Amino acid sequence: MSEERSLNFLEEIIEEDLSNGKNGGRILTRFPPEPNGYLHIGHAKSICLNFGIAKKYNGKTNLRFDDTNPTTEDVEYVDSIREDIKWLGFEWDKELYSSDYFDQLYDFAVALIKMGLAYVDDSTAEEIAAAKGSPTEPGKPTPNRSRSIEENLQLFEDMKDGKYPDGAKVLRAKIDLASPNMHLRDPLMYRIKHAHHHRTGDKWCLYPMYDFAHGQSDAIEEITHSICTLEFVPHRPLYEWFIQQLNIFPSKQYEFARLNINYTVMSKRKLLQLVNENYVTGWDDPRMPTISGLRRRGYTPLSIRNFSERIGVARRENQIDLGLLEFCIREDLNKSAWRRMAVIDPVKLIITNYPKGQTELLEGENNPEVEGGEGVRSIPFSSELWIERDDFMEEPTKKYFRLGPGLMVRLKHAYIIQCDSFVKDDSGRVTEIHCTYIPESRSGNDTSGIHVKGTIHWLNVESAKTAEIRLYDRLFRVEDPSNEEGDFKDYINPESLTVIKNALIEPDLANAVPGFGYQFIRKGYFTLDTDSRPDYLVFNRTVTLKDAWAKELKKS
Ligand code: ATP
Ligand code: MG
Repeated sequence: MSEERSLNFLEEIIEEDLSNGKNGGRILTRFPPEPNGYLHIGHAKSICLNFGIAKKYNGKTNLRFDDTNPTTEDVEYVDSIREDIKWLGFEWDKELYSSDYFDQLYDFAVALIKMGLAYVDDSTAEEIAAAKGSPTEPGKPTPNRSRSIEENLQLFEDMKDGKYPDGAKVLRAKIDLASPNMHLRDPLMYRIKHAHHHRTGDKWCLYPMYDFAHGQSDAIEEITHSICTLEFVPHRPLYEWFIQQLNIFPSKQYEFARLNINYTVMSKRKLLQLVNENYVTGWDDPRMPTISGLRRRGYTPLSIRNFSERIGVARRENQIDLGLLEFCIREDLNKSAWRRMAVIDPVKLIITNYPKGQTELLEGENNPEVEGGEGVRSIPFSSELWIERDDFMEEPTKKYFRLGPGLMVRLKHAYIIQCDSFVKDDSGRVTEIHCTYIPESRSGNDTSGIHVKGTIHWLNVESAKTAEIRLYDRLFRVEDPSNEEGDFKDYINPESLTVIKNALIEPDLANAVPGFGYQFIRKGYFTLDTDSRPDYLVFNRTVTLKDAWAKELKKS
């Protein structure tokens, strides 16, 4: 798909670095999730980028859990993140934790204090904010800025030893209170938090801030290219300042535009609200933009990697159409999904000239997109069938090529039939359609000479199995719910899930496994849901067959 594309700006930087022999030709990236939620499709973009670029240039990628905020983090998230990355098809070199560096980071902080480049401040958060000034106004020193090195060393040690409550003191870098970059106005390095950490337990009551932990962790690991999203552009001078003062490995930070997709939200904080307030059934609800949700819905790793490649690496914020993600899964499933028939809203069809009680086995290729069809399945056929209610019209209109009185259609993989009559109940609902079949018209061996325009799907009454089918629509009814007035949750699409309890499916779908894609002919792509049980099958519609996006792509 992408063989011909030109280099993205990160690849250009890397090729330049390689040609200059920088870092001895070594490329080491990292993916640094905070284990405070499940990964979403935006993270998938970052994963594909970090792992993909390293792979392309014979480099490696570390998985580093950025676990510096003990109150929101959990091992459940660590496990899910590992699983999601593996599922996407990537292998990390080392699995690391920022918390493994807490001792080293503490020593770095002490070194900065000794250089007179960090100080303990007793001011409250409000006082610090007020003294920081504004982008047009320089900040003012708080009273503690001139503390002696000795006093700072002692206080910092006392902070570590748990002598102060949360919020009583912070450690700040001493940089420049007049800097036009607010991030350089004596940013916080450490805060006191008497909290249990999922890895370090109760050893620490002092935790480093992102800005102090991240760059130093990169340097400790000797990361060559630290790729992050655009909101960290103003943090870059601080990233470089710490590395320079500490004279440690000069990792470099590069920024790209985060992925935004319309009709969804993509911040873990918002996704957590949807989960906690039961708007969805969990992080892996098939409507969620999480990797686990997409997986459960039936998205394949390849489709997500292709999506990531197709959207490219931008340096400016933009919003990607959900249709593109759907295009990518259709493209993959069209090639990989096995074809089956399912009837979602059944009506009975009787073939009056077919011997009652007789069953014959017809054949259908599993996958006509592949040479050889990936084998065939046998499809039982008899005089009593189910067809889709909306494939029948009592008074067919002119261009109606499906079934109606006097009309002929082909039953997929089977025979041509003609409708002779139908039966209605008292409420006027059609209950039975009576047809005759043309014995010489069997698919694959049709000598009837009859040509029909329409083909419809069907199931054999005796052998069809029932299943619950879940149809999904976009989770939000507006393009950018985060940018609307009021709470983003007010914009949830009330019709994002339709459950069909008694759909009918081909019998061998009882052997389906989650993650394997099926095309239910004319209905879309489906996969078995993890709620499914042997005696109660549940299928998710991954995506419909209609691809409005493909037309758009051709137009442009
Ligand atoms: P969120 O805002 O969803 O909580 P985050 O940035 O806090 O995301 P992290 O766990 O810190 O989540 O992210 C790990 C990595 O994934 C970071 O390098 C981050 O830049 C990247 N990332 C997060 N969201 C996106 C996105 N929408 N598009 C691209 N990369 C992303
Ligand atoms: Mg983050």
